Amino acid sequence: MAVIGIMSAMHEELAAVLAVMPDEHRVRVAGRDFGVGHWHGHDVVVVLSRIGKVAAATTATVLLERFKVDALVFTGAAGGLAADAQVGDVVVASALVQHDMDASPLFPKHEVPLYGRSRFETDAALSQALAAAAAQVLSDPAQHLGAQAIADFHLLSPRVHQGLIVSGDRFVSTTAESQALQCSLPDALAVEMEGAAVAQVCLDYGVPFAAVRTISDRADDDAHTDFGRFIRDVASRYSLAILSQWLMHL
Ligand code: SAH
Repeated sequence: MAVIGIMSAMHEELAAVLAVMPDEHRVRVAGRDFGVGHWHGHDVVVVLSRIGKVAAATTATVLLERFKVDALVFTGAAGGLAADAQVGDVVVASALVQHDMDASPLFPKHEVPLYGRSRFETDAALSQALAAAAAQVLSDPAQHLGAQAIADFHLLSPRVHQGLIVSGDRFVSTTAESQALQCSLPDALAVEMEGAAVAQVCLDYGVPFAAVRTISDRADDDAHTDFGRFIRDVASRYSLAILSQWLMHL
């Protein structure tokens, strides 16, 4: 039976998933605690990715080598770059780029040397199924979120987007940096710190990968405001609901 790996960048998200796994037990590898068990009858291994590209790539490699996962899904938060990627929306990646990879002039900017590419595509079927689950969850935010969070974060009609997510080892928290990213990667919907690295590892192993991110901020001068509260009250609840909806229908 297929084993599904689930990585989250946030403690709160992970705790919510572990809480619904009836038979979960922990296995410690490389200083990381992997939760092994079942969810909606599927074999799953869930783990905190840790933050940043290298940490996430190590976590992904252990999931693939040690736990032999057959598919890997990343859930977390991201900063919105595209004008319509608003706080509370969900972005499902169709491809990912490392925005801080630059070996020019030896290789084109953003190209990962020796891979001959800058864009790492996600698995189309897996991404489509997760986007459908996200659309279902976002169609009725009140079922998953408290009224206060909906009012405070203006989450009245959240949307699901599919497209490019860019990753780099920086929390993007200035309008200037956000604009610079939009100039160099105009079709980028959102920015985060792990996804493209995990996509690269999954390509190496030939294992399907998908990434689902809730927009927690606009990657601008206010990006840090209410970040923790948003993760606790919105992003972690969406992640749980989206993964649950997806696994239930798998
Ligand atoms: N306070 C948090 C730190 C989170 S770092 C903690 O202690 O755990 C930000 C996380 O959210 C990263 O995992 C990154 O992938 C994502 N993220 C959200 N908004 C981002 C932004 N504007 N720029 C880069 N990454 C962002």
